[in-house]
Amino acid sequence: MPGGAEAGTVDPARVHDLAALDAAVSQCRACPRLVAWREEVAATKRAAFRDETYWGRPVPGFGVPDARLLIVGLAPAAHGGNRTGRMFTGDRSGDVLYAALHAVGLASQPTAVAIGDGLEVYGTRLTAPVRCAPPANKPTPEERDRCRPWLARELALLRGTVRAVVVLGGWGWQALLPVLATPDPAGGHPGWVVPRPRPAFGHGVHVTLDAADAKQSGEHADGGAGPSGIDPQVAAPLEVFGCYHVSQQNTFTGRLTPAMLEDVLARAARAAGLDPTPPARPGD
Ligand code: SF4
Repeated sequence: MPGGAEAGTVDPARVHDLAALDAAVSQCRACPRLVAWREEVAATKRAAFRDETYWGRPVPGFGVPDARLLIVGLAPAAHGGNRTGRMFTGDRSGDVLYAALHAVGLASQPTAVAIGDGLEVYGTRLTAPVRCAPPANKPTPEERDRCRPWLARELALLRGTVRAVVVLGGWGWQALLPVLATPDPAGGHPGWVVPRPRPAFGHGVHVTLDAADAKQSGEHADGGAGPSGIDPQVAAPLEVFGCYHVSQQNTFTGRLTPAMLEDVLARAARAAGLDPTPPARPGD
């Protein structure tokens, strides 16, 4: 896992707020292959960005600290997040995702170019199971597992507010479900109940996961505080939605259209208790 003297980074379990988590993860050097790759890409650059200084480090989550909706991707892109330092920013995948978030009223603008471009997201946070750009967009299972404590701690710190997750792609789905099912090692939350066999990924799939502590108390989370006095606002279920990844492979081929993406995002926003206001369209 990341952290400890060997990695030269902070143990995620010791971090107690999202700002500190974001700062700590950006210093992580626990995966030798990914550290070498992200830094090589940052040094060699793509010709179109040769005058820019690449971020070249792990990319922290982006969004509000009291997010009700979490969007989980795969890993930063070499010349996207690894260049700009912000999730889904500066590449075609981000162009598609933020355009859809803006269309359903969850983002202030349809474009994401760089930190400082004015982009805000509403009630939402974006993150990934692996925080460093991997060669060929393919982290190894070992790298995914090594990065897991960052995502687990992020979920623990969001637990008081997060009510829905959109998972972009089957890889992220496979990475996220075990995290949801595992208690926070720092004792921050007991996780959610993930059925066995685990629900299969698919575009538009929606599963409701009860909070593990709601189950233990014999109360459904909507049913008020149980005998153990669990706060129903904390021991709340999680609505998990599958969505095809916003990769160029999917969006260029029409496997994932803007309408399909907007539909999942809007459903998840409603399930999260958000009431976003889509921007006025011409003719409205
Ligand atoms: S992938 Fe995760 S664990 Fe590995 S170096 Fe990057 S931030 Fe650290």
